[in-house]
Amino acid sequence: MKVINIINSRKKPFVSFELVPPLKGSDMSKLYQSIEPLMEFEPPFINITYHRDEEVFRENQDGTFRKVTITKRPGSVAIAAAIVRNFSVEVVPHLICGGNSRQKLENDLMDLHFLGIHNVVALRGDAIPVRKYFTPEVNGHQYCCELVQQINDMNQGKYLEKELTDVVSTDFCVGVAGYPEKHYESPNLHTDIMNLKTKIDAGADYIITQMFFDNQKFYDFVNQCREAGIHVPIIPGLKPLSSTKHIEMLPKTFGIDLPEELMRQIRQCCDDKSIYELGMKWCITQSTQLLQYGVPAIHYYTMGTAENVKHCYT
Ligand code: FAD
Repeated sequence: MKVINIINSRKKPFVSFELVPPLKGSDMSKLYQSIEPLMEFEPPFINITYHRDEEVFRENQDGTFRKVTITKRPGSVAIAAAIVRNFSVEVVPHLICGGNSRQKLENDLMDLHFLGIHNVVALRGDAIPVRKYFTPEVNGHQYCCELVQQINDMNQGKYLEKELTDVVSTDFCVGVAGYPEKHYESPNLHTDIMNLKTKIDAGADYIITQMFFDNQKFYDFVNQCREAGIHVPIIPGLKPLSSTKHIEMLPKTFGIDLPEELMRQIRQCCDDKSIYELGMKWCITQSTQLLQYGVPAIHYYTMGTAENVKHCYT
């Protein structure tokens, strides 16, 4: 079932989870083990993140360097298929523009279509660590709205090779990312929301937000989206803070703020365990208030650790 139909047909809010594919060489059973405890919440869908190849420099014996491409978490299409086979849940693989040409994206979308997977989240991806700015692949997309347009074209039977005959139309439901605290590259929230509208106008069906720790930012974001003419469902994304390193890492990596009150409570914590418990407590309060506000669903980012996430939805 398409995510948009799930949202529209549910009378009660539901929960969804975002999982990270296993590292290259590791066992799929670890991923299954992280899904199993989440199934008691009956998530109608589970998202699988996409991780682009990394470029690193390795030293040669003569002291010169060579550029090496490393794939740390391969096979998201296969992983999506494996999850559908083993669990009664829809799977929503993420697809990113970064590192992918239009042809590669079209082929991945065809594979998903053949597997009967009709949900994707379309994203641009970030700049690779050695570069300051995002650069598209040769014959790739600069912005996510172009990928959404490509998927929408395929949904209308339009492929990259115009001379193809006897083509089928795909039937993808497309989610896109929204940023209650604006995307870190955007000059301001209004501009970012107008760019978000471009993704919706290109055919995206719903929005999942970046994590946030202050619900007021989400409420303001939803209001501004509605004023800008964005009327698709907006699902809040949450992540419980779970370690001391998150205090620096989450704002830096995701361009978000930790509210004053949360910081005050963090300062009273003496170790990782008390931060872990505070993070869960904060996330439970956020979840409860969001449900009272009337969100259609809550999307939890596991970032590889599902244990604390499963205590956040009550
Ligand atoms: P875009 O919508 O293209 O926006 C990027 C920037 O460009 C923004 O500042 C925007 O305002 C601006 N912009 C957009 N369109 C235009 C335009 N037409 N003209 C001028 N400016 C424009 N990353 C991964 O690598 N893998 C994942 O699986 C993944 N999953 C994610 C899931 C969610 C729910 C979220 C919120 C993020 C996820 N990300 C993932 C991170 C995401 O790839 C980064 O945040 C990335 O920097 C932006 O992606 P985007 O799709 O929002 O880009």
